[in-house]
Amino acid sequence: MKKLKIEGVESIPSGHRDKDKSDRATTEQVLDPNTRRILFKMINSGIVSEVNGTISTGKEANVYHGLAASEDDSSPDVHVAIKVYKTSILVFKDREKYVTGEFRFRKGFNKSDNRAMVKLWAEKEMRNLKRIHSVGIPSPEPLYLRRHVLGMTFIGDSRGKAAPRLKDVEFMDENPVARWRSVYLDVLAYMRIMLQQCKLVHADLSEYNILFHKNKPFIIDVSQSVEGDHPRSLDFLRMDIKNVNDFFRRQGVLVLSDRSTFNFITR
Ligand code: ADP
Ligand code: MN
Repeated sequence: MKKLKIEGVESIPSGHRDKDKSDRATTEQVLDPNTRRILFKMINSGIVSEVNGTISTGKEANVYHGLAASEDDSSPDVHVAIKVYKTSILVFKDREKYVTGEFRFRKGFNKSDNRAMVKLWAEKEMRNLKRIHSVGIPSPEPLYLRRHVLGMTFIGDSRGKAAPRLKDVEFMDENPVARWRSVYLDVLAYMRIMLQQCKLVHADLSEYNILFHKNKPFIIDVSQSVEGDHPRSLDFLRMDIKNVNDFFRRQGVLVLSDRSTFNFITR
C-alpha cells in the first residue's frame, strides 16, 4: 500500500544531482528531496498509507490528499489533507507584517533561516488550528506536524472530493439569499468566538479561506492568524470584516455595516 504519487512529481528521482531541476522542484512543486523524505517517512511509520492527489497548489503552500492508515485492517482508511509549505524565499516577503518579536526578517537571510521560517508557519498553523478546533469552530483538526509538513483532517466527502470554497458555492434552492444569510451569521459568530475565546484574528479571512461542508462554513488557512494583542490585530480584523461583508453583500445578503460588525465581534 506504500504510495507516493503526485502528478508531475513522482518522476523526479530522489537524490539526483541536477541542480537546475531540483531548484525547480523546490520553487514550483514543493516536493524537494527533503519534503519527499518527510512524506516517505510518514508512510513508512504508518502515519499515512498513501499520499496521492494534489488538492491545491498555492503561492505559499501545496495541499495534498492522503489516506491515514487505520489501526486495524478491517476499518477503511480515512482521508487527510497534507499541507506542505513552500521553502522558496519569494513567498516570505508578504508575510513580514504578521511576524512580531525576534523572528523578524533579516537582510540576506539564508537557506536555513528559510527552513526555520516555514517551520514556524507550519507550527503556527498547527497551534492556531488546535485553538479554533477545540472551541468547536468547524475547521480541520491538526493531526501531525513534521517540520514544514502539516497533516490535518480532510474537509470533504467520503470519496475524497474536497469541500468547495465559499467562492465556488452556488445554492440552487428557491431562496439562495436565505441560505447565504445563515452562512453569514455563522461566519460572524465564528469570528467573534475566534477573537473572544481563542484570542485570535484570522487575518486572511475571505471566501477563499472558508470551505462549505455539511451545510456549514469551515475556517481554514490560519498560519498567518495573529494574537488579539498583536499591534496590528485590529487592522487585520477590519480587513477580514470588509472581505466578509463585501462577499456576502454580493450574494444579496443585507449585511451589517463594517463598524457594527466590528463592535459585535470585539465587544
Ligand atoms: P494556501 O491558501 O496558503 O495555499 P490553504 O490552507 O488555504 O493554503 O489551502 C489551499 C486550498 O486547499 C484550500 O483553498 C482548500 O481548497 C484546500 N484545503 C486546505 N485544507 C484542506 C482540508 N483540510 N480539507 C480539504 N481541503 C483543504
Ligand atoms: Mn488559502
